[in-house]
Amino acid sequence: MAGRPVGEPELLRGFIDGGFVAGGKTFTKASPVTGEILFEVAEADESMVDDAVAAARAALNGPWGRLGEAGRAAVLRRVADELERRFDDLVTAEVADTGKAISQARTLDVPRGAANFRAFAEIAASAPTESFTTVTPTGRALNYALRKPVGVVAIVVPWNLPLLLLTWKVAPALACGNAVVVKPSEETPASATLLAEVMAAAGVPDGVFNLVHGFGPDSAGEFLTRHPGVDAITFTGESRTGATIMRAAADGVKAVSFELGGKNAGLVFADADLDAAVAGSVRSSFTNGGQVCLCTERIYVQRPVFDEFAERLAERAAGLTFGWPSDEATVNMPLISAEHRRKVLGCYDLARAEGATVLTGGGVPTFGDARDGGAYVQPTVLTGLGPATRTNREEIFGPVCHLAPFDDEQEAFALANDSDYGLAATVWTRDVGRAHRAGAGLAAGIVWVNTWFLRDLRTPFGGMRASGIGREGGTHSLDFYSELTNVCVDLT
Ligand code: NAD
Repeated sequence: MAGRPVGEPELLRGFIDGGFVAGGKTFTKASPVTGEILFEVAEADESMVDDAVAAARAALNGPWGRLGEAGRAAVLRRVADELERRFDDLVTAEVADTGKAISQARTLDVPRGAANFRAFAEIAASAPTESFTTVTPTGRALNYALRKPVGVVAIVVPWNLPLLLLTWKVAPALACGNAVVVKPSEETPASATLLAEVMAAAGVPDGVFNLVHGFGPDSAGEFLTRHPGVDAITFTGESRTGATIMRAAADGVKAVSFELGGKNAGLVFADADLDAAVAGSVRSSFTNGGQVCLCTERIYVQRPVFDEFAERLAERAAGLTFGWPSDEATVNMPLISAEHRRKVLGCYDLARAEGATVLTGGGVPTFGDARDGGAYVQPTVLTGLGPATRTNREEIFGPVCHLAPFDDEQEAFALANDSDYGLAATVWTRDVGRAHRAGAGLAAGIVWVNTWFLRDLRTPFGGMRASGIGREGGTHSLDFYSELTNVCVDLT
């Protein structure tokens, strides 16, 4: 595939109660690389979502509900094995859907799918249980907490790291004994469809994993998140969408876990290893076409090294070329769709209107081949704007960053924290004390020091403010995907 399909588009179907299903309506999925239609996708209507939720509910009352922790961990390991067996198919699907470089799909997206299942097989099986012996003037009692599944979990995910983000939620949900209905982004239906095949081949019981395709409003996303049969909703996507889903969840007082947008800051101190800071900032601003919630869109640089850093970053950004995704040497990628490109180009225009200086980029590249029909934009480095501008406050979700100078640590932390969001911050410094002060002083769910996007799946992950609700990762995921019952037994 890799963005160059031939013949009729394949029909991708939903997966309910162990079988693939298509409803009446379909929509098309276009290649971000060329704009050609790649897939036709079966859009779930309300009755298909009803069926998916009912199948999940029934599965909870079947053998899956009686399996126990060790049995579920074994299933998760089989899923990981099967994901590894289908590795090349998943890479092809992920590259087709997103236009991302095949090297990235091979080294990040698809391996993380299997890693998520292996990690949560271990994390769930080895999670500590709480117990307290209570002594009162009148007696003694033993308290211990039991983990139980929440029930039917709705999983709604975006398009930027489709398999990685989907499995990040499916794996712990299943590890805790839940049944799931997943709604991938309308932009990335392919790897989720393959995941359904993987589930079936790995022997996940019918109804435990269900997949519905479609859009958000007045489509599968909305039908699922306002469904009364859903017990909890985990969502990754835009903060605005999170607010809508939260309103839907209010009706049934459902638990929500939200991983939302970011407007992440990078801080480059004059004492930093500047080579590392430049290389790291190229990664943190332009990886995946800047379409990672953790990407750095605001970079503050200490004044003595500002000019050198700006010049070197702009030069590196201008040198980021676009190969075909299937070429091993390609690292860069288009945006997900023509619609998203319009939004990002609108942000480039807005930045100019707000008075930004464009150090590099700001437009679209031309190729003279089929990629001119794709959704490419130039990596862009801006400067000259104040912290109150929309460019510095609103998430763009493209290959763009704005550079501004600062004088001292206090000012740097204040600038970084001046945001409605609080997902990630990246600090480049050789001062160990400052590194720890940044960890304490920055309002972000993760603070990276001299690195970016280094993740340990056991650690808490999530955002503050408009960047999310709750933490996932390690036992934090188990806390969301399970209910605790405290059992209190009289010992007298
Ligand atoms: P989005 O919010 O538009 O869509 C995400 C998912 O929600 C899609 O499946 C979509 O169909 C569905 N959806 C949309 N409206 C809905 C509604 N009213 N009801 C139910 N479902 C609905 O986000 P996107 O454009 O796909 O992804 C980009 C966003 O995701 C960015 O804001 C990015 O920062 C964020 N993101 C956050 C994280 C994180 O971990 N914090 C990770 C990746 C992406």
